[in-house]
Amino acid sequence: MKIGVLALQGSFLEHQAMLQRLGVDTVQVRLPQQLEDLTGLIIPGGESTTIGKLAVDFGLFEPLKQFGKEHAIWGTCAGSIFLSKDAHREQPLLGLMDIQVERNAFGRQVDSFEIDLEIPVLTTVSTEEPVFHSIFIRAPLIESVGKDVETLAALPNGKIVAVRQGHLLATSFHPELTEDTRFHRYFLEVVS
Ligand code: GLN
Repeated sequence: MKIGVLALQGSFLEHQAMLQRLGVDTVQVRLPQQLEDLTGLIIPGGESTTIGKLAVDFGLFEPLKQFGKEHAIWGTCAGSIFLSKDAHREQPLLGLMDIQVERNAFGRQVDSFEIDLEIPVLTTVSTEEPVFHSIFIRAPLIESVGKDVETLAALPNGKIVAVRQGHLLATSFHPELTEDTRFHRYFLEVVS
């Protein structure tokens, strides 16, 4: 297994460190040919417009779209926006996931917050209570999801913040900024 981390902008080093902690072979992806021998890919948080524009400039946009048709991809925060089919703005979107997102749904940087969320699927990787410390930084909300999309986590008000569509995952929050490896282990399960 070899997992790439899209390394155009954002928190790719933190994802890579997490994967290394789990003993996974990982590579930073900046060029289309680096996708060739990967089993899965993480698209980090950062700024989705920037990530999208850089993906176009680096000739990665179409290759990423093709890759996601058959391989596992997990987008965190800006990465989840980039995976979506609609973000209510003109920006490059891969459109791989049947989700509509609202960018910066909680307000500005100062409105960032942390909350413990119930994420029942985490029981597939650990016997711990499936409560996960979730960090939201100028995060998007997943406003609406298609019929093939499964909700993995929601806020107490019912707003969706983590979803799975087959081999594709999207989270509004940042598991790579915690010490908790469970969400990364869950992604590895999706990959295999
Ligand atoms: N606000 C960013 C965007 O809309 C996402 C923030 C993040 O990835 N932490 O692209």
